[in-house]
Amino acid sequence: PTAMREIFLETPKVQWSDIGGSAEVEQALTEVIEWPLKIPDIMAANNLRPQKGVLLYGPPGCSKTLTAQAIATSSGLNFIAVKGAELNSMYVGESERAVREVFRKARAAAPSIVFFDEIDAIGGGRDGAMKGLNVLTTLLNEMDGIETLKGVLVLAATNKPEALDTALLRPGRFDSLWYIEPPNQQARKEIFDMQTRRVSLAGDVDTDRLAAQTEGYSGAEIVSICQKAAQANVRRYMALLRDGKDSAGSAITMADYQAAICKTVKQITPEM
Ligand code: ATP
Repeated sequence: PTAMREIFLETPKVQWSDIGGSAEVEQALTEVIEWPLKIPDIMAANNLRPQKGVLLYGPPGCSKTLTAQAIATSSGLNFIAVKGAELNSMYVGESERAVREVFRKARAAAPSIVFFDEIDAIGGGRDGAMKGLNVLTTLLNEMDGIETLKGVLVLAATNKPEALDTALLRPGRFDSLWYIEPPNQQARKEIFDMQTRRVSLAGDVDTDRLAAQTEGYSGAEIVSICQKAAQANVRRYMALLRDGKDSAGSAITMADYQAAICKTVKQITPEM
């Protein structure tokens, strides 16, 4: 059916190297997610129990979705991604059927990873909305099918962990929680370096200093700062062209980045 097709999302080929500051998370999540699915016998021989549900939480724009996509790419495992909001937008009954279908596919494709992005959209379902509750119940039932869920790991992401129904966090469900933190100085530098690699930069651009000046900004905001700075350069280029002047030396300057930082409001608050 057409509605079903909409909930399966394409997974872009994100690499760990595309995510600034991901080295530690890469190692930890490879051990928690990839090893149990790839070498279950060795894990069992070492008395290690596989996790069934892994939850990534943290403020918006700080690489939770990117991280899930990098796991998909680097593990090479079958990966089925679903957006919580997409499930929520479906008709009553349809979203429950969709959740069951997702798990059916995942079992058929095991070893596999099911990824629920924005899980708060369904997992916060006890706010009086009957429909949300039914979807949540379906998800819990599927996760509780221990034996049948062999070789399937459920990964989820949220920036509103406090909105999740506590039933989701009980043992045997999402009991492995990982805080994906805002980028620190080194991570911010890595994002600036990635973003400036393929553009013409003026000699004064210093990504160490830019990283120092962007404490508290999310990864998404740093990408946006780089876009604004580049846009300022294109604007200048077009003005030179229009005036018939030489535009060959046009490059993004430190001042462009600093102006972009001033224009970009931090969204992350301490409560997040
Ligand atoms: P939300 O909670 O709002 O869904 P999220 O934590 O899932 O956010 P992502 O979707 O992974 O955030 O990141 C949004 C965008 O921000 C990415 O597509 C990327 O452009 C940029 N970004 C965020 N963090 C990083 C990072 N560490 N390295 C490189 N780019 C980043």
